[in-house]
Amino acid sequence: MAELLAHAHAMEAEAVERYAELAEQMEVHNNREVAELFRRMAEVEARHVARVRDRAAGIALPRLAPWQFVWRGAEAPEAIDATDAHYLMTPWHALRLALVAEQRGFRFYADLAATAVDAEVRALAAELADEEQEHVGLMRQWLARYRKPEAGWNDDPDPPVAPD
Ligand code: ZN
Repeated sequence: MAELLAHAHAMEAEAVERYAELAEQMEVHNNREVAELFRRMAEVEARHVARVRDRAAGIALPRLAPWQFVWRGAEAPEAIDATDAHYLMTPWHALRLALVAEQRGFRFYADLAATAVDAEVRALAAELADEEQEHVGLMRQWLARYRKPEAGWNDDPDPPVAPD
C-alpha cells in the first residue's frame, strides 16, 4: 500500500510539475491560450496530488530512489514528454498530449488494479484508475472544442533564434 501511494504521489506530482513547466514555456512564446490550458491541467492534477496525500495520511511512505520506481524510462507514465511540445502548438496539440498522458496514467492504475496481489492495493488502484478515467474524459471534452489544425501550423516566417 505504502509503495503504491509513493508511486501515485510521485506520478501526480511530476504531472503537475510538467504541466506548469509547459505553461511557462508557452508564456515565453506568447502562446497564451495553450499556456492557460496547461495551467488548468496543473490545477486538476494538483487536486489529485492532494487526494493521494490525504489517503497517505498516517502511512509512512517509502522514500524511493528514481531507479526503484517500477515504470520504464525516466518519466512517470502520466507526465507529458516535454520534447513533444512545440512553441507554436495549438490548444488541440496540447490537449492531445495531455490526453495521451492521462491515458497512460489510467493504464498504470488499471493494470495494477487487475494484477496486484493485495486486495487493499487493488481497491485503491481501482479508485485512482477511475479518477484518471475522469481526467481522460475531461481532456476529450476540451479537445472537442477545437478543430484539428491544418498542415503548416508550425510554419514560422520568423523562427526564434537559438541562444547559442
Ligand atoms: Zn490525471
